[in-house]
Amino acid sequence: MFTSFLIKYAEIGVKGNNRYLFEDALVRQIRHALKHCDGTFRVSKTQGRIYVDALSEFDFDETVEHLQRVFGISGICPVTAVEDQGFEHLGGEVTAYMERVYGRQLHDGAGLSFKVVAKRARKNYPLRSGEINAELGGILLDAFPALRVDVHNPDVWLHIEVREKIYIYSMILPGPGGMPVGTGGKAMLLLSGGIDSPVAGYMIAKRGVKIDAVYFHAPPYTSDRAKQKVVDLAALVARYTGPVYLHIINFTDIQLMIYEKCPHDELTIIMRRYMMRIAEEIAKETECLGLITGESIGQVASQTMHSLAATNEVCTLPVYRPLIGMDKQEIVEIAEKIGTYETSILPYEDCCTIFVAKHPVTKPNVSVIRKHERALEGEIGALVKTALETKEMMIVEASPGYRG
Ligand code: ATP
Ligand code: MG
Repeated sequence: MFTSFLIKYAEIGVKGNNRYLFEDALVRQIRHALKHCDGTFRVSKTQGRIYVDALSEFDFDETVEHLQRVFGISGICPVTAVEDQGFEHLGGEVTAYMERVYGRQLHDGAGLSFKVVAKRARKNYPLRSGEINAELGGILLDAFPALRVDVHNPDVWLHIEVREKIYIYSMILPGPGGMPVGTGGKAMLLLSGGIDSPVAGYMIAKRGVKIDAVYFHAPPYTSDRAKQKVVDLAALVARYTGPVYLHIINFTDIQLMIYEKCPHDELTIIMRRYMMRIAEEIAKETECLGLITGESIGQVASQTMHSLAATNEVCTLPVYRPLIGMDKQEIVEIAEKIGTYETSILPYEDCCTIFVAKHPVTKPNVSVIRKHERALEGEIGALVKTALETKEMMIVEASPGYRG
């Protein structure tokens, strides 16, 4: 019964030239999201509106679900489009629409108030909008005794839009909000196999930022399954962001050298500093404007204020930590909502759990850390260079057919 969707987006702050960029990016992201749905669709922008028209059979629920992952969409209105075959025909179609969508409410006696809001986008239509409102209102009141008009606060805003075809809609399903990915530059996500980093990537992408990712792999200490898990997580994040360029760095030799030459209680901090340095190298090469991590204050020893200061010190790019003030439970709830949680909790070790000290420092002193890092001088530079030269890069597409 629905043949199209009218896409609503928040227009606040989207003015002038920015508006075109915003709308074009939104259209692009919608097209991308629908590539993974059954059916063919036309996505078009006309007179400040974005429409998705189904050109074939399609699965309504699946399509809505995919649209609900496109940042920038504030609401999705399922539309019934009918051919213009005269006003009498339209009256019949609108009556049938009300019966299909609100039939149960209209017949169980509870009553329903409504208001017709016509818009004549095609000016050669013989009736003006005020006339369409009055005429259709009358037809519906005659058809359904339980209906009444309320022009101020109706239960149902029945929109009639006269275009090439005539569009009928009255429902708004919620969109994810945010800004279309691609309108806010690009950032490099440090993506581990845990719960937090995929959520962090999701949150920054929601503000319109395109996401690349880097994963530090330590074979044979971390398995291929751990790596596959990160690829799977990238594919889940890609359902919201579009394809993710995932860089995989072999971190083993660097980690072993740190293990050999630095105090064990500082291993994690020094390792994290090297991760940040390498991530920043790749970020700069790939025109990323910042780094993203899943850190949250106090979650573990390496995320105390002192530890974060020590990790942050090696970066010149801004580091975005969208989870910084969140409790684990709040992060878990988002992970569940966005569908990454189940994959994140699969029990494959990541490289940080292999080399963790029994008693890591919780209040590292930056100058002490710097001094201990000097033990690596002369050799670690070559290892970092090799790690960058041998990095693997894959373009991770959204996991297909995922429902949830
Ligand atoms: P997560 O749940 O995201 O794994 P975590 O609670 O395990 O986080 P840490 O292991 O201290 O926390 O890592 C903090 C952040 O550092 C992660 O959120 C992630 O952004 C980054 N990170 C940690 N390990 C890796 C890795 N192997 N590859 C890429 N990034 C990593
Ligand atoms: Mg982790």
